[in-house]
Amino acid sequence: MRTLVIETGKKIGTEVTLCGWVNTRRDHGRIVFIDLRDRSGLVQMVLTKDLAQGLGVEDVLEIRGLVKLRPEKLINPKLTTGKVEIEVKTVKILNKASELPFPIDTDGYDINEEIRMKYRYLDIRRPRMTRNLRLRSQVTTFIRNFLAGRDFVEVETPILTKTTPEGARDFIVPSRLQPGKFYALPQSPQQYKQLLMVAGLERYFQIARCFRDEDPRKDRAYGEFTQLDLEMSFITQEDILRLTEELFTQIVTTIFPGKRIQTSPWPRIPHAEAMAKYGTDKPDLRLDKNDPDLLAFSWTIDFPLFNKQTTDDFYYGSGKAKFAPSHHMFTAPHPDDIGLLETDPLSVRGLQHDLVLNGFEVGGGSIRIHDPKVQAKIFELIGFSEEQKQQFAHMLTAFTYGVPPHGGIAPGIDRFMMAVLGEPSVREVMAYPTSASGQTSVMDAPSSATNEQLREVGIQVIRKKPAADVYTRIVELLDAHEVAYKTYEHEPVFTSADAAKIRDTSLHIGAKALVLFADDKPIMVAVAGDKKIDMKKFKKLYQVRDLRMASALEVQQVTGVPIGAVPPFGNIFAIPLYMDTSLQSNETIVFNAGLHTKSISLKEVDFEKIAKPMIGEFSQTHEVA
Ligand code: ASP
Repeated sequence: MRTLVIETGKKIGTEVTLCGWVNTRRDHGRIVFIDLRDRSGLVQMVLTKDLAQGLGVEDVLEIRGLVKLRPEKLINPKLTTGKVEIEVKTVKILNKASELPFPIDTDGYDINEEIRMKYRYLDIRRPRMTRNLRLRSQVTTFIRNFLAGRDFVEVETPILTKTTPEGARDFIVPSRLQPGKFYALPQSPQQYKQLLMVAGLERYFQIARCFRDEDPRKDRAYGEFTQLDLEMSFITQEDILRLTEELFTQIVTTIFPGKRIQTSPWPRIPHAEAMAKYGTDKPDLRLDKNDPDLLAFSWTIDFPLFNKQTTDDFYYGSGKAKFAPSHHMFTAPHPDDIGLLETDPLSVRGLQHDLVLNGFEVGGGSIRIHDPKVQAKIFELIGFSEEQKQQFAHMLTAFTYGVPPHGGIAPGIDRFMMAVLGEPSVREVMAYPTSASGQTSVMDAPSSATNEQLREVGIQVIRKKPAADVYTRIVELLDAHEVAYKTYEHEPVFTSADAAKIRDTSLHIGAKALVLFADDKPIMVAVAGDKKIDMKKFKKLYQVRDLRMASALEVQQVTGVPIGAVPPFGNIFAIPLYMDTSLQSNETIVFNAGLHTKSISLKEVDFEKIAKPMIGEFSQTHEVA
C-alpha cells in the first residue's frame, strides 16, 4: 500500500500513500511546502495551511496525495524526485517529534561527539552517516559474495573464549557457573581459524568482531572493531596477497566508482626499505595527498619476526624477555632464516604482510607456523612461562594431528571504510561506536552491576579511593618528607582566577595542573596560574606527535578528581609530571589539593623535591579576562 518516495516519479496522476519524516517545512502564505524523507530520498509535498497545521520538523507522517508533474520552471534538478510534487489530501501524524538536540542537516563534524553519541539514532539520520552505513553494508555483502564464489566457508567463532594473544589487554567476563573463573573476549579469531584449517575446511572467512582493551587511538576504535578474518590452507604468501588485492580492487571499482587506485598491482615494500625511505612501515604513498578520490594501496612485507620487547608489550608482559613478536606469535619465520632463531633472533624475517592504504595500516596477516617444534621455540623466545605455555597447549596438541600449511589475513572493515571515505575517525563509519574514553553510544555502559549480580559471580568491587583521599595522600606525602606547608579551606572554586581571589594569593603563584594525552598516554602538566600551555612548544620540546587536552571525563578517569581540583602531583596518579619554568620563579606555590574547597601552599623548592617534575619552558601568557 505504501509507495516509496523514489517511486513517485513513475506514478504521475495517481494517488499514493507515503510514510516518512518531515525534512523541512516552508510556509508560503496559504500553502505550505513540506519535504518528506524516507529511506529512498526526499519529495516535495504541497499542503494547505489547514492540513499543515501543527506539523513540525522530524514528525513522522502518513499522507495520501496526488502525484503531479511540476511546471517546467519549477523542476528541481538537484532532487531525484524534482520533476514531481505531491498534492496532499490527508495527513496522519504517526508520531510527533520534540526539538532535536542538534541539527542533522549538516555534516556534523563540529558537534560535540559526546552529544552525537548520546543521540546516535538521530545522528545517523544525517545524510553523511546514513550513506556511510549503507556503503559499509554494500562492502560486507560484496565480500561475502566474492568469497562464497571462491569456495570459502563463513564460520562464526565464539565471543566467550580464552585469551587470544594479539598484543593487547583482554576484556574479561566473569563466569557465574564457575565463580572465580573468567572468559576473555577474543582479540581476534586467530586460534579458532587456524584450528579450522586443522579441521580441513581449507578456506574460511568471517566478518568478525574483535575486542581489545587498548588505549584509544584515532584510527582504532576503543573496545571493539570488525575485521574480515580469513584463512587458507596449502597456499603461499603470494596467494594471500593476490586474493586480497583482487577483492579490494573489485570493491573499489564496484562500490566506490568515483575513487581511483593510484598503482596496480600494489607496490610491495620490504619493511627495512619502508623504514629507511619513509620512516614508517605504513607509508602514505599518495602522490597528491589533497586528492580525496585517490587510493594508494601498498603491501609492507619482510617484517622482522621479532622486536625488542618493552614494557609496552603488555601481553608478553614481563618486559623481561628479550623478544616480542612483531605481528603475533603464530607467524612463521622466513624459511631461509630458521637457523638464525638460535643465533640472532632479531635478524629473522617473518612471513608477515601488512595491507596499507593512504598511510593507515588496514590489515595484517601471515603464513603461520605449522611445526609444533618451531612454535615451541617461539614461545621460549618471547619468554613464556610454563603456565603461559599451558594456555596454548591446545594449539600444540592440535598441530600433532595433521595440520596443513596455512596462512591468512585480516583487513579491518572500520579502518578500510574510514580510509576510503576519508573520514577522520573509525567512529564515523560505525553505527554505535564507543567513545575515545570508553563510553558506549546511547546506552550508558560501562555501568555498575547490582550486588546480587556480583554475589552470583563471586566478585567484590574495591572502589577507587574517593577524591577526598587525594588530599590526605598529599598531606601524608608532605609529612613524610618533613617539609613545611600551609592548608586552606575555602568556598568551592573552579578556576585559577577564583582560587587566587579566595585564597588572596597572586595568580602567578597558583600551580595549574592539567591532564593531557601525549601520543595517547596521560600526562600531567603544571604551569603558573596566569600562563597557559603552548601546545606547539611542548610537542617540540618533548618530541610528542599528538598532544591533546583530556576531557572532563578523562580527567576523572585518570585522577579520580574532578576538573579544577587536580593537584600538580603526577606521582599520586602514576603519570609523568612536566612543569613549566614559569612556576620556578616563585618562592612558594599554591594549588587545589584534590577538592574544590581545599588548597595547600609550600615552598617551590620543596615541591620540586617531592613531585619530581621534568622542567621545561612551554608556556605562553594567558589572557585573563
Ligand atoms: N589475527 C591477526 C589480527 O587480527 C590477523 C591475522 O594474522 O590473520 O591482526
